[in-house]
Amino acid sequence: MTLRKILIHPDPRLKKVAQPVASVNDDMRRLADDMLETMYDAPGIGLAAPQIAVMDRMLVMDCAKEDDATPEPMVLINPEVVWTSEERNVYEEGCLSIPEQYAEVERPAEVEVSWMDLDGKTRRERFDGLWATCVQHEIDHLDGKLFIDYLRPLKRQMITRKMQKLKREMARG
Ligand SMILES: [Zn+2]
Repeated sequence: MTLRKILIHPDPRLKKVAQPVASVNDDMRRLADDMLETMYDAPGIGLAAPQIAVMDRMLVMDCAKEDDATPEPMVLINPEVVWTSEERNVYEEGCLSIPEQYAEVERPAEVEVSWMDLDGKTRRERFDGLWATCVQHEIDHLDGKLFIDYLRPLKRQMITRKMQKLKREMARG
């Protein structure tokens, strides 16, 4: 397994729509392992392939986040939201591509998602709570959308400027 470099906003690759995956092969399984390792190392609860500059519709997540919780790594390929609840939920979201910036985002409280797993099987599951927020946030990444796109322009610009500054500092080392 290899730790991958996570792209930091603003980056044109984070604004692109990722391509559907045709079939699961060993490269995809290796990519999933790398993504999970990168996510746990960060640490984070979700990571989408475009965040490591791979433009495939694939994401990993694990929202079993209490310290003594058993890890529940999930790998979703070509995920699609097939149902959303009318009830909505507000969560303070963050993103590994927008480090240390958090803001409240409102989304459907429950979603049903279908996807292909690493065995190439189609799966369908309903998510609620943090899992629902996380899966919607990660699927957004596959469509080139970030959580700050839900915020008011002023707040979004403020965060983007902070990230530009952070990237300049990182480039200087
Ligand atoms: Zn994110």
